[in-house]
Amino acid sequence: MATEHIKTLIIGSGPAGYTAGIYASRSGISPVIYEGLQPGGQLTTTTDIDNFPGYPEGINGFEMMAQLRQQAERFGTEVRSGYVTAADFGTRPFRLTIDGATEVTADAVIVATGASAKYLGLPDEQKYAGQGVSACATCDGFFYRKKTVAVVGGGDTACEEASYLANLANKVYMIVRKDYLRATEAMRKRVEENPKIEILFNTNTVGLFGDNGVEGAHLVRHRGTDREEAFDIAIDGFFLAIGHKPNTDVVAAAGVVTDEAGYIRVDDPHTTTNIEGVFAAGDCADPNYRQAINAAAMGCRAAIDADHYLAAHNLK
Ligand code: NDP
Repeated sequence: MATEHIKTLIIGSGPAGYTAGIYASRSGISPVIYEGLQPGGQLTTTTDIDNFPGYPEGINGFEMMAQLRQQAERFGTEVRSGYVTAADFGTRPFRLTIDGATEVTADAVIVATGASAKYLGLPDEQKYAGQGVSACATCDGFFYRKKTVAVVGGGDTACEEASYLANLANKVYMIVRKDYLRATEAMRKRVEENPKIEILFNTNTVGLFGDNGVEGAHLVRHRGTDREEAFDIAIDGFFLAIGHKPNTDVVAAAGVVTDEAGYIRVDDPHTTTNIEGVFAAGDCADPNYRQAINAAAMGCRAAIDADHYLAAHNLK
């Protein structure tokens, strides 16, 4: 069977991928988006998005991504389910493997693979995966109506998740390793003023327990000091909100240069990577802002950069 050739292949379907699709299709460089493991990206697991310009009343994340997809498709972007499992950027055109099976070639590639939730690395997180451990309150909060849950982390995500869960659960602990919340003031206030939320500062989780899924967590306060104190809390659900890791393993293995944390290095303000013809946009290449609006803007830049590249190489 002949290998399919794609002019502009976009990996990922978050705000960066879809915006790249909108611009690339309008400029006639025939984009095909492979959605990846989480169609619509991280925003499909969030609650209302209140800080994306143009939505004065806020918008549900899932709905916003459905609209972005429609907008990209309206101009001819082809959106396919599929996960890029391998890439060879050493040949022209580039070669990419989809779902470990199908091979396609591409003239230009826009990497918009986003980021995934981090875990603490405790063996118990794996032991109780799907049995009380989650990294997505909007996905799994429903199961904890009138129960007790804990959220780990002190950033905006943790505050957002804790507030969301407090609407469902009877009680929410926030387990924060420092003596302050790193979150922005508005988010911080929301949790501090919520009577259902109890913040445990200077506290680390060292394990989980339970015979029937998660029934509690082993915690340590002031770890490593002379005030160190171990204690347990009874919980039904344990939610991680400690940041994200960029999804760049596949492209890094193909030679795309990243920083120590795995974020793709781009030649800012351009989206060019160390490999000519490979561009990066969104959270996979943004260690600083990690906001939907920035991802969308970077997707726009990547499509324009790809268009210029294809034109310069008579590939348009
Ligand atoms: P952050 O990196 O901002 O915060 C991570 C939190 O997890 C910190 O409190 C950190 O603690 C804690 N943490 C990290 N590793 C561990 C660990 N191993 N054990 C215990 N605690 C740990 O990530 P977020 O996901 O909260 O936010 C990422 C970005 O997205 C930010 O720029 C944020 O502003 C933005 N965002 C914006 C939203 C909005 O505007 N609506 C919503 C959600 C996110 P420590 O402080 O000690 O490092």
